[in-house]
Amino acid sequence: MPLIHITYNGEILGTFQRFERLPDIEKSGDVWDSKARDICDIKKAIKDHYIIAQDYTCPYCKQRIEVNHNASWDAEHIIPKSTHPRFLFEPLNLCVSCKDCNNEKRDKPVLVNNNRRTLPVNSGDYIISHPHFDDFNDNIRVIEIAGYYLPLSDKGRKTIEICGLLRFSYKYANYGNTSQENKETILELANSLMGASSPAEENAYLGIISDTARAGQKLSKEAFLKQKEANK
Ligand SMILES: [Zn+2]
Repeated sequence: MPLIHITYNGEILGTFQRFERLPDIEKSGDVWDSKARDICDIKKAIKDHYIIAQDYTCPYCKQRIEVNHNASWDAEHIIPKSTHPRFLFEPLNLCVSCKDCNNEKRDKPVLVNNNRRTLPVNSGDYIISHPHFDDFNDNIRVIEIAGYYLPLSDKGRKTIEICGLLRFSYKYANYGNTSQENKETILELANSLMGASSPAEENAYLGIISDTARAGQKLSKEAFLKQKEANK
């Protein structure tokens, strides 16, 4: 389902139009950091809109962050505001992302042709999976229990690289080994899953596998933290 972009109206429409009318030379990404009330208002409207439109989900790592306070989210300029300030308030260049993805992505280029003056609106204009113009599932499969992102396309590969999505598998890799017992349980459950006779049964096994894997991650995380503490 395509992401519904923000539509400006009332006072924030005026703020948007004032910015659009500025000569190019005065359009700066720094406007975003202004403490002026009209800028704060439009930023708040943008964040509030996209948090709901995206159903509390980061468009890059697909983590769900169910926190209403909008400071838990970063407003995200898909084409970076530092390199392309003219798209600062462009609805189709905006979304929200988790702070970690935003921090990884920063001002890395995302366009096939970086010299574009009007906002490129086709999927093929971007090297990453675009929150508005792409279906994430065409480009990446999230293997949630492993914290792993499987690229399904070149865009998928680029998105994983630019948004630093390998950080999740590195994190788990550092936790050390899950217990043998945990691994054997998962293996057994996986065998049962393969033999499941209905979608309902499959779903049940998938749920149990996911819970078991999480429990294993928790144990190995605790072991990792204990080890770290012991090494101090
Ligand atoms: Zn994210």
